[in-house]
Amino acid sequence: ALTPSDLAAWLRRSSTLLAEHVSALNELDAAIGDADHGSNMKRGFAAVVTALDAEEFADIPALMKKVGMTLVSSVGGASGPLYGTFFLRLGTSQPGATQLDAADLLAALRAGVGGIEQRGKATVGEKTMLDAWAPALDAFEQASTGEDASDLAAAVRAGAEGAEQGREATTPLQASKGRASYLGERSIGHVDPGAASTALLWQALAETVA
Ligand code: ADP
Ligand code: MG
Ligand code: MG
Repeated sequence: ALTPSDLAAWLRRSSTLLAEHVSALNELDAAIGDADHGSNMKRGFAAVVTALDAEEFADIPALMKKVGMTLVSSVGGASGPLYGTFFLRLGTSQPGATQLDAADLLAALRAGVGGIEQRGKATVGEKTMLDAWAPALDAFEQASTGEDASDLAAAVRAGAEGAEQGREATTPLQASKGRASYLGERSIGHVDPGAASTALLWQALAETVA
């Protein structure tokens, strides 16, 4: 099961990976947006790491509340409130939790993604981060439940592969939400930056639980 310190390690690894990919994410956003997605994510997760360094957290909801509020307040773009809502909802879905097993993690991630959907009023297929989250969660669910249930690390790895496939599958889509939607058909043929950052969060989670 994942403890608050495992989740903190995930967020720290995410911050490192996002900082390493800042140019790549900005370039993806340059093609269909305003070239700031990497800078936004790097700034937001650096602020999260600073917040983690400053405080101890009693339980997972307290940790996730801090993470969500830090992202909302430190990221100017659309992605700040969306990822911020994701972490806030992830936390509130598990009241008082001090650890998450695979089933809890699935429920928590699904609640977080529900928050993204509500906040962004988007659904799968609109060329957003949801197009990475949805296949990731489906792959994670498949690998963590039922007949072929495997260990948590293997299930998260399956989720990360789902996120990567989802990221790639945004290329032929036309954006109908966010800045990229202003381009209409010209948004076709590019990977969505938010789907790419979601795949990095999954990579960080897979590396953390390995
Ligand atoms: P901004 O577009 O304000 O500059 P970012 O560049 O940081 O913000 O984030 C852009 C990403 O946010 C997009 O690539 C997309 O994945 C995601 N996004 C934008 N609008 C929505 C929405 N309504 N629902 C879900 N995700 C969205
Ligand atoms: Mg942008
Ligand atoms: Mg912007």
